[in-house]
Order: sequence, then C-alpha cells, then structure tokens
Amino acid sequence: SITKTFHSLRPPIDLPLEDTPLSAAEYAFSLLATSPWPHDSVALINSVTAQRISYSEFTRRTNCLAAYLQKVTQLSINDTAFILSPNSIQLPILYFSLLSLGVVISPANPLSTQSEISRQVQLSKPVIAFATASTIHKLPKLKHQTILIDSSEFESIMMSSKHEFDHVKVKQSDLAAIMYSSGTTGNVKGVMLTQRNLMAQIANSYASRQERESPTVTLYTMPYFHMVGFIFSLRSVALSETVVVMERFDLKKMLKAVEEFRVTRLVFPPPVIVALSKDGLTDSYDLSSVEIVVSGAAPLGKDTIAAFTARFPKIVLGQGYGLTETAGAIFLTKGPEEAKLWGSTGRLSGSFEGKIVDPETGEALPPCKEGELWVKGPSVMKGYVGEEESTSATLFSDGWLRTGDICYINEDGFLFVVDRLKELIKYRGYQVAPAELEQLLISHPQIVDAAVTGYPDKEAGQVPMAFVVRQPQSTLNEAEIMDFVAKQVAPYKKIRRVAFINSITKSAAGKILRKELRKVAVPPGTSS
Ligand code: AMP
Repeated sequence: SITKTFHSLRPPIDLPLEDTPLSAAEYAFSLLATSPWPHDSVALINSVTAQRISYSEFTRRTNCLAAYLQKVTQLSINDTAFILSPNSIQLPILYFSLLSLGVVISPANPLSTQSEISRQVQLSKPVIAFATASTIHKLPKLKHQTILIDSSEFESIMMSSKHEFDHVKVKQSDLAAIMYSSGTTGNVKGVMLTQRNLMAQIANSYASRQERESPTVTLYTMPYFHMVGFIFSLRSVALSETVVVMERFDLKKMLKAVEEFRVTRLVFPPPVIVALSKDGLTDSYDLSSVEIVVSGAAPLGKDTIAAFTARFPKIVLGQGYGLTETAGAIFLTKGPEEAKLWGSTGRLSGSFEGKIVDPETGEALPPCKEGELWVKGPSVMKGYVGEEESTSATLFSDGWLRTGDICYINEDGFLFVVDRLKELIKYRGYQVAPAELEQLLISHPQIVDAAVTGYPDKEAGQVPMAFVVRQPQSTLNEAEIMDFVAKQVAPYKKIRRVAFINSITKSAAGKILRKELRKVAVPPGTSS
C-alpha cells in the first residue's frame, strides 16, 4: 500500500509522564545531572572577554536570580517577561530562572523599532521587561520596573544567596514561551509554547547525543530571541555542552573564537555557510577542531553544499528543518551518513508524524510527490496568542500543523524543501512578513497599492521586494520608497528592491497573488 502518513523512523522521544509537574528548566537540569563531566566543566564562555561560567556556577546563579525574582520582584507563575537584549552569557541564566518560576519568556529582536515592540507587547502582555542599556529606551512602561541585565546590579543579584528560592510547581502544560512569528500569512503573531513543547525538543537532542572524550564546544550565531538560539540555550545545558557566546556576530571574530576555544560544533543560517565556502579568509585560522556544521532556518543551496564540502572535506555538514511553531528543528540529519544526501534536511524526529498534502485538494500524497508539509508531534505549539482564527487556520484540532512549505519526502523518509507556499520572506534566516511592509507602504500618501514578495539573493537567501502602484502624476522614486520603509522597521526588514506597476494582481477574494508577482520579478529558471 502507498504510505500517506510518514511516521518517524527514529525511536520515540523519551519524555516524563505528562501529568508529572515539571518545568523545562528542571528537566534540563535533571539531564545535566547525568553528565559524564565534572560539575566545574564549562557551561558558557564569553567569546570576547573569555570569561567562563562553570555548570555549578550556572545552576547557582540561576537559583539566586530565581529567588530574587520570586521574593523581591514578586514574579509568579504565568506572568510574562519581555526580553530585549543582544546575546550575552546572562541570557541563558535568565531563561532558566524564569522557566523554573513558571514565568513565560517572550524574547524579541533587539533591533526592533518602538512600534514593532508595542505590537509584540500588546500580544504577550508582559508584566516585566529585561533589557540592556542599549535597548531600554524602546520599551513601554509595564507593571514592574525594567531590569537591566548588563548592569553590575544584575551581576550581584545573580551572585547573592540572600534570598531562598521556594520551589514552584510548574505543570508541563503551562506556557513557557511566547515567540514571535508571522506564521503562514499576515502580521507578526505570538507563538505559544508549553513547557512540554520545549522538553520534547530537549529530549530529542538528548537522545541523539554521542559518546565523547571531552565536552562538545558549540558556537551558534542564531540569536537567543530566535527559536533556534532559544532552544539551543536549553539543550546545551541538558547535554552539558560548552557554549561560546558571541554578543555580536562578526565573521572574522567568529573564526578567531573557533580557533581560540577549539569549537567542535557550529550552527549557522545558510548565509554564513555561503560566506565560509568562498571566503579565502578561513585559510588564516585553525579550524581543525570543528567536527560538524549544522545549517538551519532557511534553505541551503546545493551549490553552497558543494563549495563548502570541497573546502572542508573533513567537516560533516548537517541540516535541520523546523519552525518557531514546532519549537525548533523536527527534521534533522544525524551522523555523517545522513548528511551525505545533499539537499535533504534530514529525517523526522522521534514521536513525530508528517504528511505531504496537495494544497488544492487537501489529499495526502505518497512518497516523492510535492505538496504542503503537515506535521504532528510533541513540540507543536499550543496556538497563536489571542488569535483564534489564525490558530485554527494553521493548527487543526487533530494536532496537524500546516507548515506553509512545499516539500517532498522520499522513500527513505528524507525531507526535501522545495518552495514556500506561505507569504513569509526569509532575509538571512530572519522572518520578514510581507503584510507588515505592505501596510506601511500603503500608508504613504502617494502610494495607491502595494505588494511585497521575496526576491532571490545569493547571499541573503531572499530580499524583500516591493511592487508599488503610485498615484497618477506621482514622481515618488525607488530610493524614496526604500527610505520611507527603512525609517520605520528593523534593518533586516528593509525593502531592497522596488518595481513600479499599474495594478496588483489579486484573487476574486482580494488576496494578493504573490506567485504571479514573483513570476514578473524573477526571470524563469531562477529559484527563490
Ligand atoms: P522560523 O519560524 O523563523 O524558524 O521559520 C520557519 C521557516 O523557515 C520554515 O517554515 C521554512 O520556510 C524555513 N526553513 C527553516 N529551516 C529550513 C531548512 N532547513 N530548509 C529550508 N527552509 C527552512
């Protein structure tokens, strides 16, 4: 018979019973306790100052901070904390403290503008914010005062055992995080993830750990507010890995850190892999410690894989595929053998199911046929906060989540991502929601109508491109339009290409036909 639902070929994820009260932090710490390394093995390294924090110090700081937030700040279970900070070694400690208190973590991109933040705050309704000296001015007033995590005061809070932390009974079904994503359509939404969603991701990573002679040293360039960075901050603790934290990404500094701290595993979005594959610059660094490089968050081109593999034949180039809505990767290549299947993002994680659905008929398709990927499993989100309609259009009552990606799964269960059905644009792995830019464009007095779509770009993957219908007689030019948008959005959302047209093709229901626009913009034979 023809398979229509793909079941994971990996063993099921080993998760605690669902009704045992447990936070994702406690769960990760319980796995850390099985670590083969001593308590003083290194948890975090600041790549610039080389400051190191051991695992015993990490747990101690987590407890001190949790106690302070519980006793002094009086945060309690189900409160939400908004976080606006570049990467730092304080962030994982803050995440663990908040998770153990049952406080919902909502991290946002520190480059966001004030109006972007106010929209996010409306969604997640935080009572407190954690920020840095460089981001605090963007935050609205909340119930509790904003706490600066790059201050000496914060440092002493983490070091002080003045307060005792009273254990909080957190349910696995409690909310743990609200992450921001535009999903398959429209504006930014708040993705609700439960403690158990995060635990499922942690358990999956733990299951795939390998026996080693020394701890894995990981460096990932995905920020802690992005799902990949967020989940890595938790899984690294469960696997007692050493994490090299870069506050600001810079290619040369990253390579220097790899050499200096003998990094064994790197995690990047595709643009970094593109850069490493061609830049002669890597020759001046000793990268011999690197065993594996994992690419995720956006499509990795076959040319890039070929170039990277030729340059670094000893490094395994793995891939992961996932969404914010699945709390991270759910298809992964495991080991050098699976990584050899160029272009595949790997096989389904344990306890997951997938199916490929014909977007027109809704029918499930057999192996090797292209259609929309639907997935079901223990890390699939609870829904979008306060958006029942968007939730029920994406997540069905029987647990299936629409990914909005066009894919196929081969006979051996390997996933190939072919195209995107959803509106989402990915610029260097970052989400850009066309709807948000379209609303901004239309607010311009000389713009009658506008549509935004992704234009293929070798380095960034895609760049946001605007199709603009001007008022008759308007002389508005490309630069003015780009500038108008750039002033109102975070830098990665800037419009980087403009085309003027007479009208925007729409469906009978008024929906912008982006595929048609892309056909106009993209010469045939170029894939996006
Ligand atoms: P985000 O919620 O920001 O993680 O974005 C999720 C989306 O990124 C997916 O629905 C895909 O469109 C894209 N994506 C993530 N990983 C991959 C991958 N390995 N290959 C292709 N596209 C990917």
